[in-house]
Amino acid sequence: MGTVVSLTIYPKDEQEAQEAKALEQRILEELWHLERDCLSRKADSSEVYNINQHAGDLGEMPVSEELGKILEECRQMTEDSDGAFDVSIGALVTLWKIDEVAAGEIQGSVPSRAAVENARSCVGMDGVILENGCIRLKEGMMLDFGSVGKGIALDHVEKMLRDGGDTAVPAGVFALGGSIYVYGNKPDGTPWRVAVKDPFSSGGNVGVLEVPAGFKVSTSGDYERFFEADGRRYSHILDPATGYPADSGLCSVTILSESGFLSDALSTACYVLGKEKGSALAEKYHAEYLFVDENGEIFMSNGMKSRYFSENGVGN
Ligand code: AMP
Ligand code: MG
Repeated sequence: MGTVVSLTIYPKDEQEAQEAKALEQRILEELWHLERDCLSRKADSSEVYNINQHAGDLGEMPVSEELGKILEECRQMTEDSDGAFDVSIGALVTLWKIDEVAAGEIQGSVPSRAAVENARSCVGMDGVILENGCIRLKEGMMLDFGSVGKGIALDHVEKMLRDGGDTAVPAGVFALGGSIYVYGNKPDGTPWRVAVKDPFSSGGNVGVLEVPAGFKVSTSGDYERFFEADGRRYSHILDPATGYPADSGLCSVTILSESGFLSDALSTACYVLGKEKGSALAEKYHAEYLFVDENGEIFMSNGMKSRYFSENGVGN
């Protein structure tokens, strides 16, 4: 998933500690499965890689029930966000190569307008046809689940914990890069707290959120994967409407939801949409939001305000 995975489990006693070890292994295996067999754009063993390879083919290409369901949920989010969120964005993602630049593999450069337009013409969910358990992608199109993979993975972790029964492990924090899931009750009885990074200072944060057990928190920001050229910042979240990095005035978007899919999808979608349209979209999905704009100002939903503490510990 191109990020750091951190699993923290709180066993009560030695027996639970043993179970926690086994659970940790099972979770890691599940994450690998999701990436290598299903969602990765880069691993040649994955279903998405295989589908992308066959873009433009007219033959029948079976799609798993799991991926078909994810695609339909993503299509709904594309509609609800007026196209700001779009997992068929792969052609643009591979053109800009911002993840590779951020990983230090290559130097960043701004592609030509013609190349951007060409890639942009290969983006749009109307080019993704799902029919009778089969999928067809328009020529040149490429699926990219970088915006939702981590949230989906957290939903899988939740399901594993639920299926394992309550006895296995009482509490844990599961963090996949900028997406976090808190589970159960902390042994010391204190609430779960998740810090929101300050997009303007590395190591600092703009505040802390008290997160109810069972919820997921995802943050999308322009400060982790980007390059600078001609005095401006080009970040990894792209606007399908322009083909260029999103420029909505927001630097960081944090979404709180019971669904990992929604928290991750909405964080990306709201980042592209900006303050007004983004907050309306989050409200539509009953998700709480915290936005930091380019002036460092913070905007929150009312529900988020009641969970937010600034650095000095004062609520709201
Ligand atoms: P996130 O960090 O969750 O906001 O996801 C960002 C990643 O999603 C990028 O690295 C791309 O792989 C992909 N992506 C970029 N722009 C979009 C977009 N407008 N809609 C959906 N996925 C996107
Ligand atoms: Mg996301």
